[in-house]
Amino acid sequence: MTHSAPDRADLAVVGAGPAGLAAAVTAADAGLHVLLLDAADAPGGQYYRAPAPGLHATRPEALHHHWSRFTALTARLDRHRATGRVRHLTGHHVWTIAATGDDWTAHTLTGPEGDTATAAPRARRVLLATGATERHLPFPGWTLPGVVGAAGAQAVLKSGLVLPGRRVVVAGSGPLLQAVALSLARAGARVPALVEAAGYGAYASAPHVLAGNPDRLAEGARHRAGLARHGVRLLAHRAVTAVHGTGRVEGVTVSRLDRDWRPVPGTGRRIDCDALAVGHGLVPQLDLATGLGCATRTGTDGSPALELDEDLRTSVPGVWAAGETGGIGGVRLALAEGELAALSVIADALDDLPPGAPARAARLRRARRRMRRFAGLMGAVHRPGPGWTSWLAPDTEVCRCEEVTAGAIRTAVDALGAGDTRTAKLLTRAGMGWCQGRTCGFAVRALAGASAGPAPDRRPLACPVPLAALARTEPSGDA
Ligand SMILES: Cc1cc2nc3c(=O)[nH]c(=O)nc-3n(C[C@H](O)[C@H](O)[C@H](O)COP(=O)(O)OP(=O)(O)OC[C@H]3O[C@@H](n4cnc5c(N)ncnc54)[C@H](O)[C@@H]3O)c2cc1C
Repeated sequence: MTHSAPDRADLAVVGAGPAGLAAAVTAADAGLHVLLLDAADAPGGQYYRAPAPGLHATRPEALHHHWSRFTALTARLDRHRATGRVRHLTGHHVWTIAATGDDWTAHTLTGPEGDTATAAPRARRVLLATGATERHLPFPGWTLPGVVGAAGAQAVLKSGLVLPGRRVVVAGSGPLLQAVALSLARAGARVPALVEAAGYGAYASAPHVLAGNPDRLAEGARHRAGLARHGVRLLAHRAVTAVHGTGRVEGVTVSRLDRDWRPVPGTGRRIDCDALAVGHGLVPQLDLATGLGCATRTGTDGSPALELDEDLRTSVPGVWAAGETGGIGGVRLALAEGELAALSVIADALDDLPPGAPARAARLRRARRRMRRFAGLMGAVHRPGPGWTSWLAPDTEVCRCEEVTAGAIRTAVDALGAGDTRTAKLLTRAGMGWCQGRTCGFAVRALAGASAGPAPDRRPLACPVPLAALARTEPSGDA
């Protein structure tokens, strides 16, 4: 049976990663009309990133776990698309969401350059599943060709089947590094070392949390066994504090860190490599949410995340969120939260809940609490120590868009009295470029000595929007 698409959907889901996909098909199963919007050309988000069709990959599942879970979700999505119950708009970047009477209007950009404004679809409710981006901490040499983001290297490998180099050091902090190092090694790269700034022993401080999440322990053990098989050395309490090379990476210096992440003098050792994949965890992508006024909290990792109730409602009525927007927690948590948020939306939309829904929601709430506890522990273990700023040389670029150095920001703070990110930005232009501080914001805040407050930067536009597209946008109601 096909359904004619209504003028406004019951629910708009932004993001077709694990959380958004699970939410969209759960809501559609219950009969809701769902609008699923994603900037990417295919569903799956960051985790289920499939090789580009032109590569004719014969085993797209080779770089993934839980691939069957993904194919089951996309099969349900395809069925709902065929009946018209889900309208899936791929290649649509939502740059803002505005209230229009009782509805929400999603303003999107699309087209080959990603800069063409389209009709702005409406929905009665919104669910934000916009995922996360990688957190980068600068260090001397991080702008040299051959230095890539660790999560970015994983994404390029999954989607383009391309390695960043032949001999790749993986560095930074967080459990994702182990997955990245293993993927690179399995795909044929030589990985001489995985350099982790924190220490894995810190997980033992919360045995009850570990006992509640045996799957995560098993995953860690599997990763470490795989790394050992591929001859990858695990160097904990260490960081890459310099990159060497003229024109391209030729090696890195790895230094031992004290408990505050300050390099211990005299401990630097060189490792030769032709690429460095480096990342210090992930940061929730909150532009649309903060634009709507959703309340945030500071996570144990020091980054802001959305404040959500146990059914994934944000502080703004009619807006739900799931997955990494509520704090970094991994794919299983994202899948569970997507489904749980959809059940809450269904309860809001329908008088009659589907049979079994309340019991299912109760199970998901319990699973979510358990996984969120692990996520909190993970965030605390890998939170950057305050001493990381001592890696920086005066000429280390911190803001790459505006080419602002650590020395310039320190002068703004020490000589000109900038005590917060905004003043540092006004005095140096750090964070004023194309990325609007999305890459350097964490580092500038640390250098300015500003503590991570619960309120992140509020950006009215979630991505760069051409003036022509803005001019064509019809004012919508209360916006
Ligand atoms: C680069 C990268 C690589 C990663 N690789 C791995 C890995 O190999 N293994 C692992 O365990 N975890 C990995 N992670 C973490 C993993 O992505 C998450 O645990 C999981 O995917 C979270 O699911 P999600 O649905 O919350 O978000 P995501 O999977 O990130 O999905 C978010 C979706 O929202 C879309 N989106 C965001 N903003 C907008 C907007 N304004 N308009 C329209 N669409 C939007 C994005 O295109 C994306 O499809 C990676 C994270 C990143 C950032």
